[in-house]
Amino acid sequence: MPPHPTPTPTPTIAGVHIDTRHWINGRRSESASGETFPDLSPIDNTELAQISRGGKPEAHAAVAAAKAAFPAWAATPPPARARILHAIADGVEKRLEELAQVETADNGALVRSHRRGVMPRVAHNFRFFADWLTNNLSHPDFDTKTHTEVHSNTRRNHVSWDPAGPCVLITPWNAPLMMESWKVAPALAAGNTVVLKPAEWSPLTASLLADIAAEAGLPAGVLNVVQGYGAEAGQALVEHPDVRRISFTGSVPTAQHIATAAAANLTPTSLELGGKSPLLVLDDADLDLAVELAVEQYDNAGQVCLAGTRLLVHESIEAEFTQRFIGRASNLTQGDPRDTATDIGPNIHARQLEKIDGFVQRAVAAGATAVIGGGPNTDLNERLGGLYYRPTLLTGLGQDAEAVQEEIFGPVLTLQTFSSDDEAIALANGTRFGLAATVVSGDRAHADRIAARLVAGTVWVNCFYVRDLRAPFGGSRRSGVGREGGTWSFDFYCDLKNTVTAQQTFTAQQTFTTQQTSTTQESGSDHG
Ligand code: ADP
Repeated sequence: MPPHPTPTPTPTIAGVHIDTRHWINGRRSESASGETFPDLSPIDNTELAQISRGGKPEAHAAVAAAKAAFPAWAATPPPARARILHAIADGVEKRLEELAQVETADNGALVRSHRRGVMPRVAHNFRFFADWLTNNLSHPDFDTKTHTEVHSNTRRNHVSWDPAGPCVLITPWNAPLMMESWKVAPALAAGNTVVLKPAEWSPLTASLLADIAAEAGLPAGVLNVVQGYGAEAGQALVEHPDVRRISFTGSVPTAQHIATAAAANLTPTSLELGGKSPLLVLDDADLDLAVELAVEQYDNAGQVCLAGTRLLVHESIEAEFTQRFIGRASNLTQGDPRDTATDIGPNIHARQLEKIDGFVQRAVAAGATAVIGGGPNTDLNERLGGLYYRPTLLTGLGQDAEAVQEEIFGPVLTLQTFSSDDEAIALANGTRFGLAATVVSGDRAHADRIAARLVAGTVWVNCFYVRDLRAPFGGSRRSGVGREGGTWSFDFYCDLKNTVTAQQTFTAQQTFTTQQTSTTQESGSDHG
């Protein structure tokens, strides 16, 4: 008799049938070892499914499949690639409710956010990059619009975005399908093939994405999904010499492992990492707006890399701000994320809950005050069996305090005050990170002066989180390497090529008509 009953590879979760095996070369497969690992729901900490535990054999098989599928996909004309990406978006929209429910069961984020914002955005990511490919990148006029085509009297420089090859995409658990679509869509649009390794704490929607892509007509091997732990499946993927691009979103220590592995093969790598972003409330701010934006930083139980977790408030308005903030924050409803009345759900994993509480208890022991929160929501945890942490605000911290310097990734904000713009900037820029910043001010010129001095990949003024897909996204300092979004995504996922043609060697009919002529830009050949 086997020691355990064999788990079904296709459990039903939130009413949805999900195949939890790998998706490699257009087929479902178990791991060579036959091993699986448990996937828990943060809502009640119960086991949702057993997931195939990938290692080297699966990583290598997936990269081989991506490599074999690459030439045909790269040669597929852009309009045909774009049609399939739009069909994937159609599939996401058709299964939106299922995806919302499964994601909520798996990572505990609010079902109402998944329905309203996240899943529509997933579909939009596929549509956006498909359209960017056909309207811009492969459009004959794109070069001249963006000044990438330079005509000299005799030579034409033509820039093209060529497909690069198999891409390894490694994603985190806080916004699984959102991050996956943000990477998969441009990689596929660019003509690359993909091996996706979702986070082991939230692997389910990636499996559904594989089904949706297959139904949309994506050929076998173009998108592969390898399940497993980072140190096993992830490590085997990022070490692979046939991989042409690695895009990773996650923590700094993991990024350091990945960058080291990538260095051995000089694989270009895009890293989107953590943050400790400031939210600055200037003395001319609309306090209602400032409080609304500050409370928004508890979204997804604080598990948002962009979150403005450091509230920096001008000392003249601090008392009133804090009072209003406490009033607003105590109206937040914490509970089951499947309930649409819930504002704050659980944290992802018992280990994470422990880590969050460790930060808070050490801060309090060092003299900080938890003006609200300060511990797990024990009532809720007893009732639901889940992993809920009370929204917390810490005051009385110096700039060097651990809770000010380190990313907590839970519903924990800190509040510090400043008395001048110089001091605000010194505090705001005074961490190792540089992902984002938010400025709240009623004076546009003042806000612009502050924004100009902030070190951050994104600065929001009187708003938060909204982002145009055409804009670059990424972090400065320890918050990341590189930018994705719009053309920046294609710059990363493509091999940029300049073709220099001596025009006079062709007959007049074959010569490209030059509208701009310039000889001054030509400065000999480059060697590098
Ligand atoms: P966290 O610490 O918040 O769980 P990580 O940065 O460790 O976040 O995880 C983000 C993703 O990176 C996950 O998909 C995880 O499996 C993966 N990962 C972790 N370690 C490695 C590694 N050594 N190589 C490749 N991927 C990894």
